[in-house]
Amino acid sequence: MENKFKFFNSLTRTVETVIPHEEGKIGMYTCGPTVYHFAHIGNLRSYIMEDVLEKALRYVGYDVKRVMNITDVGHLSSDADTGEDKMLKGAQRENKTVMEIAKFYTDAFFADCAALNIKTPDVVEPATNCIPEFIQMIEGLLENGYAYLAGGNVYFDTSKLSEYFVFSSQAELDTFVGVRDDVEEDTNKRNKNDFVLWFTKSKFEDQALKWDSPWGVGYPGWHIECSCIGIKHLGEYMDIHCGGVDNMFPHHTNEIAQSESYLGHKWCPYWLHVQHLNDRQGKMSKSKGDFLTVSLLKEKGYNPLVYRMFCLQSHYRKPLEFSYDILDNTAAAYNKLVKRIAGLQAEGAVDEVAFAEYKNKFEDAISNDMNTSMAITVLYDLLKADTNDATKLALIKDFDRVLSLDLTVAPKEEAKPEIDAELEAYVLAKIEERKAAKKAKDFATADAIRDELLAKGVVIKDTREGVVWHVEA
Ligand code: AMP
Ligand code: ZN
Repeated sequence: MENKFKFFNSLTRTVETVIPHEEGKIGMYTCGPTVYHFAHIGNLRSYIMEDVLEKALRYVGYDVKRVMNITDVGHLSSDADTGEDKMLKGAQRENKTVMEIAKFYTDAFFADCAALNIKTPDVVEPATNCIPEFIQMIEGLLENGYAYLAGGNVYFDTSKLSEYFVFSSQAELDTFVGVRDDVEEDTNKRNKNDFVLWFTKSKFEDQALKWDSPWGVGYPGWHIECSCIGIKHLGEYMDIHCGGVDNMFPHHTNEIAQSESYLGHKWCPYWLHVQHLNDRQGKMSKSKGDFLTVSLLKEKGYNPLVYRMFCLQSHYRKPLEFSYDILDNTAAAYNKLVKRIAGLQAEGAVDEVAFAEYKNKFEDAISNDMNTSMAITVLYDLLKADTNDATKLALIKDFDRVLSLDLTVAPKEEAKPEIDAELEAYVLAKIEERKAAKKAKDFATADAIRDELLAKGVVIKDTREGVVWHVEA
């Protein structure tokens, strides 16, 4: 098949046509969630766009095998191997075991994915399933001189590489806020950027998950899991690796360092990174505590697919700011679109010429650096086009293999409940009253207003986007 699919490769910093290692086949790897909390809708922006990537590759004819890990061990709160253990923190927060936490949030993640029509990757592998493989890879790195033992831990030696900073220069990285916000020093490291492959001596005495290893009882570092799980399921050459931009350094940089040192050759030539979803305070992150989830959107009456459309309307390489105003506009546009499509009559024959013309336009849009907003424009143009409804319906079904917006499925009865205008005016007035009380530090009045609303079945919640409310069913 002809290779026409291109996207911005973070490794070469240019838009490049993907030439797979094996003709017609793509091995694709996605960094999976760290399952210590719910995924926020920022994480899910990445998974939505990666889902579009997979489906777009299939749409243009590739046989795709997609692999994703589940991080259930080894991820510390600073990506640079310091700070708290994320899983342990989740377990302590909820008074559960680490494995209970992992199971609960893995299930919650896939429920969110299902609600957003994100396909489950062909292979999903939790890190805790692969301990023998991690040990084998670390042994290989020790044998060929890329790793060393210090203070009981095994580290990767970045000084052995001719080029470590493959995505950006050290100077550029130093300007990133938050990359090294944790200044804890690990004195075992020979070089500043060395990273842990295996921990035996950690400050987490209560670390729940530990395994025997040639270096003592311990647990793997975070980066080794993606290299190892990728190689395990996709072989020595994978075609595309993706993740959110924050994964570029140190996570993906370290993955490349250890994989290529272990394999003795180049590993993955194409890297796609999804920019962040931000709220008014900046990057949405789980560690901030109060964050937006799919459940919260559902609770407020939004169809999760409206959020998918919100993401598709902007380019994956641009930061996206979340606001309820834009989400409301998207909801209105989505409902109108689905209604309009529902009005099409599937009578008559498909006009093959028109079908090919619009299919080509759609394919061009998604194959050209995943221009999803252009793909949606093609859909709107099609609705206005001078062709019969049967052709339109056939094309819309075809486009929905990538967009996955349930465009030809009768809308789920999850639309926002009709709210009585009088009640709405009353609630909004009470919210304003409560805001004024809070401003005046009159918390007793503020609480009384909340209770008064609750008594009428109105639940209010303070979020960083402002006060949100819904009527309890
Ligand atoms: P985590 O569960 O924290 O390991 O992150 C899961 C995925 O979400 C990774 O690919 C991250 O790069 C990505 N991610 C984290 N924060 C955001 C955000 N605010 N917007 C988009 N993607 C994000
Ligand atoms: Zn990863």
